[in-house]
Amino acid sequence: MARFLVTGGAGYVGSHVVLALQERGDEVVVLDDLRQGHRAAVPPGVELVVADLADRRRVDEVFAGWSFEGVLHFAALSLVGESMREPMRYLAENLSNTATLADAAVRSGCRRFVLSSTAALFGHPEKMPIDEAARIIPGSAYGESKFMAETALDWADRVHGLRSAALRYFNAAGADPKGRLGEDHTPETHLIPLAIDAALGRRDPLMVFGDDYPTPDGTCIRDYVHVTDLADAHLRVMDRLKDGPSVRYNVGNGLGHSVKQVIESVERIGGRRVPHSIGPRRPGDPAILVASNEKLRRETGWQPYHAGLDEIVRTAWAWREAHPRGYDDRAVPEGAARAA
Ligand code: UDP
Repeated sequence: MARFLVTGGAGYVGSHVVLALQERGDEVVVLDDLRQGHRAAVPPGVELVVADLADRRRVDEVFAGWSFEGVLHFAALSLVGESMREPMRYLAENLSNTATLADAAVRSGCRRFVLSSTAALFGHPEKMPIDEAARIIPGSAYGESKFMAETALDWADRVHGLRSAALRYFNAAGADPKGRLGEDHTPETHLIPLAIDAALGRRDPLMVFGDDYPTPDGTCIRDYVHVTDLADAHLRVMDRLKDGPSVRYNVGNGLGHSVKQVIESVERIGGRRVPHSIGPRRPGDPAILVASNEKLRRETGWQPYHAGLDEIVRTAWAWREAHPRGYDDRAVPEGAARAA
C-alpha cells in the first residue's frame, strides 16, 4: 500500500486513475478546484481537498499533512480551441502549476511524478504511427503548454532527482465498464459524447468538422483509447519509476478510426441514428493521429483490454444514457433517461 496525490482527480481521466489506485489498495488524496471536476466522481474513502494549484500555501499544506509516494498531475487547462484564443493563460497556468507542484513534491521528499501530457504536442506529424522519437512541433498553445510542463520536469530531475513520466494521450474515450464513472465536460467538445447525445436527441445534430481530408472517407482519423486502459498505464508507469529513469510514453491503441466510423459505431451500439451534418474543418486538426504504443508495451507490459471501438462506445453510451445531466443527475429514476 502506498499513498498518492492526484491533482484533477475529480476530472475525467483523473477520476478513473483514482478508482484504479483505490481498487488495488492504495490510499489517494485528490486535489481539485472543482472548476471542471465533480465531487461525485471522487469515490468514498478518498480524501478530497478543494483547492487551486496556484495557491502555493494550500499546496504546501497538503504536502505537510500527508507524505506521498508519488504525484499524478491531471489538473490543467485542456481545450485546444480555447488555448488558441487565450494562449498566454494556457502557457502560464499549465507551466506554473506543474512547476509549483514539482517543487512542493521535491521539498517534501516525494520522488515520483506522472504528468498527464498529450499527442497535441506533435502538431501535424508526417509519419504514422507516432512514436516517442517524433519531432515535437505543437500545433496549439495547449500542446506547447504541456511540452513546457514536460521540460520543467526534466529540470526537476536534473537538479533535484525527481523521477517523472509524461504520458502523451491520444483520444481518451469511454467510461468505467462497471458504470461508476464517466465523461462529463462543460462545455463538451469531444466527438463520442457529442455523437451519443445527438443520437439521444439531447442536443443539436453533430457537426462533422470536414470531410475533405486525405483519408479513405475524408474525415479525420484518431486513436481512441479506453480511459480504463489509460488509467492502467498510469499505474504501471508510476510503479516503474521506483527503479527506472524519467521517461515519456505515447499512449494509444495503435488503431485509427475516422469520424464517420465513430458515428457508425454509435449508431450500431445505440440502435439510433446520429443526426449530423458536414461542416468546415476545425482549425488546427491534423488529418491523422495514431500512436505507436510499442515502447509502453515493451517497458511496462501494458496492453489495451478495451481496444475495440464498439466496446469503447458501449461504455460511453451506458454512462451517458444513465446520466442525462452528467454527475449532477445521479438520482434519475430508471427509465427517465430514455424519456429525457
Ligand atoms: N469532431 C467533429 N465534430 C465535433 C467534435 C469533434 O467532427 O463536434 C472531430 C474532430 O475534428 C476530430 C475528432 O472528431 O477529428 C476527435 O475530436 P475530439 O475533439 O473528440 O478530440 P481531439 O482529437 O481534438 O483531441
